[in-house]
Amino acid sequence: MAFYMFDVDGVLTDENAKPDKEAVKLVEDLAKEGNIVSFVTGRSRGWLSDNLFPLLSNDVDWSTLYCVAEHGAIKGRGTDISSWSLDTTYVIDDEVKELLYDVSKHSEFQGLIEWDDTKESMGTVEAVHGEPGDREHLRNTRKALQDYASKIESISKDSGNKTVVSTYGVDVIHPDLSKKIGAEWIISEVKHKEHNKVLVFGDSTGDMVMAVTAREQKYEDITFHWVGEGNAPEEDRISTVSSSASFSKGTKELLKKHTG
Ligand SMILES: [Mg+2]
Repeated sequence: MAFYMFDVDGVLTDENAKPDKEAVKLVEDLAKEGNIVSFVTGRSRGWLSDNLFPLLSNDVDWSTLYCVAEHGAIKGRGTDISSWSLDTTYVIDDEVKELLYDVSKHSEFQGLIEWDDTKESMGTVEAVHGEPGDREHLRNTRKALQDYASKIESISKDSGNKTVVSTYGVDVIHPDLSKKIGAEWIISEVKHKEHNKVLVFGDSTGDMVMAVTAREQKYEDITFHWVGEGNAPEEDRISTVSSSASFSKGTKELLKKHTG
């Protein structure tokens, strides 16, 4: 039995940020086989509940599904998000959120990025997703995210927060918040020594912190599965495997080797 930590965006979603049914089905098979499954995402709990959980089968007992939303600000078990808890330590000030929101409304960003009002701890803009295959729109949204990130850098810094740019969005978050917080919590909850094999799936270099956290917690058999673009990050005593494709397509390619 193994212990899986999945980033969600770009790992279980396709390039248009839609959760991939087949990838979710493979994750479900892992849970059915008795493996520990966890999601560690920057997304809000509302997003998970509206977009990812509807794809999960009711025939599986999800009570041991560990979930971390907003990188670690929100933690919980099972699919009832009202039972999860928000750690108020990591909530950024409303005034900062308002300044960020105002920048997101600049005319140059119209139709390209939008404010995510489901976030509870952080200030987030997300790419407005186009039609599948619309490469030009994808390029434009990526540029808009970069431009937004440079415009808000001073707001983020001056307020003592940090900026995290991901595939589909830009988050301004508490300086101490990272997926390390989420991974530490899950590892402390799991405590099953029989699950000594750790498998982490990510598409951003920041996802490696989940594997590094497992290493710090004395796990020895750790593999980081890279489904991002470009070169996979490397770490001592952590094996890395890369898929030939990005996004959920890459995850499916790697997961098919795990499920019977
Ligand atoms: Mg991601």
